[in-house]
Amino acid sequence: VTKPDPILTVDGVRRSFGGLTAVDVEHLEVQRGTITALIGPNGAGKSTLFNLLTGFDRVDAGEWSFEGRRLNRLGGHQVARTGMVRTFQLTKALTRLTVMDNMLLAAPGQTGERMWGAFARGLWGRQERANAERAEALLERFKLLAKKDEMAGSLSGGQRKLLEMARSLMVNPSMVMLDEPMAGVNPALVQSLLGHITALRDEGMTVLFVEHDMDVIMGISDWIVVLAQGRVIAEGRPADIRANKEVVDAYLGT
Ligand code: ADP
Ligand code: MG
Repeated sequence: VTKPDPILTVDGVRRSFGGLTAVDVEHLEVQRGTITALIGPNGAGKSTLFNLLTGFDRVDAGEWSFEGRRLNRLGGHQVARTGMVRTFQLTKALTRLTVMDNMLLAAPGQTGERMWGAFARGLWGRQERANAERAEALLERFKLLAKKDEMAGSLSGGQRKLLEMARSLMVNPSMVMLDEPMAGVNPALVQSLLGHITALRDEGMTVLFVEHDMDVIMGISDWIVVLAQGRVIAEGRPADIRANKEVVDAYLGT
């Protein structure tokens, strides 16, 4: 048994919308170097929890730490700089920019204005060159290099998911949070996405992902957290969750 080594610790995080409590997480830990699945029915609060932890929404209460550092009050870009990045359930690829520009906009220290300013002046410093090299390497890894000059809007749904994942890696994160990375992706690409996710874990990265397909979840997760009505109602190894008949029947179907 390995000693618990949480990379992310969440305490008392709550968020309501009007009278609806969307997230009410008493305590949650994500262990370093694992693939952890966050599962639960539609409306359970999975995406809201991602938004809160990554600085894209504000908590009503609670605190959380990443790598021992409190992240409360940091905005999305600041959180990303700490090494915790996320993708969105609905991909945020900028459809009217090229694949390569989407990558470069995600580069560290690269605010949009700075990048466009550098382009406009024709000044590509060492940082810009390093970013471009990193972007190309990632596009190659995700089999998108041939598309680098095409508009992101011309990519298939699955390729956009791959681009999202590649983009998230531009800041060289230690943890990635993937919100339904497989949704709407054809079966061939699902296999490829799964391979990428396990490869990231095998390289030492921590992965927290939201998914609905039970075969996918059971197949690649080291740990599963079940969320329902904003609360963690169960967690454990895949075999334990599968054997938890109450949870499976009530929340996961089949
Ligand atoms: P999941 O990702 O698990 O399907 P969400 O986090 O998207 O669930 O939503 C949790 C609950 O919070 C849902 O009832 C949803 O309608 C509500 N919700 C999410 N975002 C907002 C918002 N910006 N305004 C109002 N209600 C919201
Ligand atoms: Mg969601």
